[in-house]
Amino acid sequence: MISARIKGLSPYKTEKRSAKVKLSSNELSLDLPAEVKEEIARAVARIPFNRYPDPQATELKEAVALRFGVDPSCVVLGNGSDELIQYLCMAVGESGDAVFYPVPTFPMYGISAQTVGKERLEVPLGEDLDIDLDSSLKEIRRRKPILAFFSYPNNPTGNCFDKNKITAIRNEGVFCVIDEAYYHFSGKTFLEEALSREDTVVLRTLSKIGMAGLRVGVLIARQDVADYINRMRLPFNITYPSQVIAVLMLTKFYHFVEEAVNTVKRERDRLMDALRSMKGVEVFPSEANFFLFRTPLPAPLLQEKLLEEGVLVRDVSYLPRLERCLRVSIGKPEENDAFLEALHKVI
Ligand code: PMP
Repeated sequence: MISARIKGLSPYKTEKRSAKVKLSSNELSLDLPAEVKEEIARAVARIPFNRYPDPQATELKEAVALRFGVDPSCVVLGNGSDELIQYLCMAVGESGDAVFYPVPTFPMYGISAQTVGKERLEVPLGEDLDIDLDSSLKEIRRRKPILAFFSYPNNPTGNCFDKNKITAIRNEGVFCVIDEAYYHFSGKTFLEEALSREDTVVLRTLSKIGMAGLRVGVLIARQDVADYINRMRLPFNITYPSQVIAVLMLTKFYHFVEEAVNTVKRERDRLMDALRSMKGVEVFPSEANFFLFRTPLPAPLLQEKLLEEGVLVRDVSYLPRLERCLRVSIGKPEENDAFLEALHKVI
């Protein structure tokens, strides 16, 4: 019988609609010249599909470790960080223990916790969209969670939480996962703590730097912690094509990634400034490749109107604290122009 725990899961919402300008999923717009794509296609054509890939994804792990400035023995690769989130929910504590995370945040923390039979301890963010430390500590002392997730910067709010608040929560004896999916746009990290402490790990991903379709997530931890997670990892969790393509992207073609990331950081400022100058529009600070904005219009209506103009953004207005808010990912300059033009037209 399917367990009540699994029956209790609500279907995970993913954006099914498409548009000419898709700014709804925090992906990176990465233009690769045709000859680069051809070289990648040739590398894929050389893969022996009848063979299993390298179970340790050695070459990819080394390329990732080099890019993140850590030793490969401190790295565990996952089928996206989604898989690593689930591993952490399984690895830390016992069934029935609680998992803490401030909300709203990335939904997979709650889904994975529930999937593996852990309780969820969700504490709403304060009005400033930072961790409400008083309420969090009160709940943590009452429910004694074993594990905590912090999206840093937080998806969907875009801000990095106060580091001291995360540390205060860790001081309660909670194993802390710092999800740095948007690290390339914030530059802020808990890497040193992750490499030196038993109770802190960092998650990164290749998804936000142009490789979302490859499904490569990265866990960085002290060697002994990484070793434990590796023992439970499914043996061939990184597909052969993903290993081959990601290695090329992180080595020979990395300058394309760097250029696209730099463009996003530049464009983020331009786009946010442009929205700030629009009457009635409230813009929230962001250290990610997306940001939140609020308008006087109902968000679902505005989302529809933008879609009619060919621009897809994410409606997050159903989440606590985010009434009338939409989330927009930063695209290429011309995509951002199209978004601005559409927004000017519809509000
Ligand atoms: N963590 C956060 C905070 C995210 O926003 C996302 C993607 N939306 C992920 C993890 C998932 O990343 P991946 O594609 O590596 O599974």
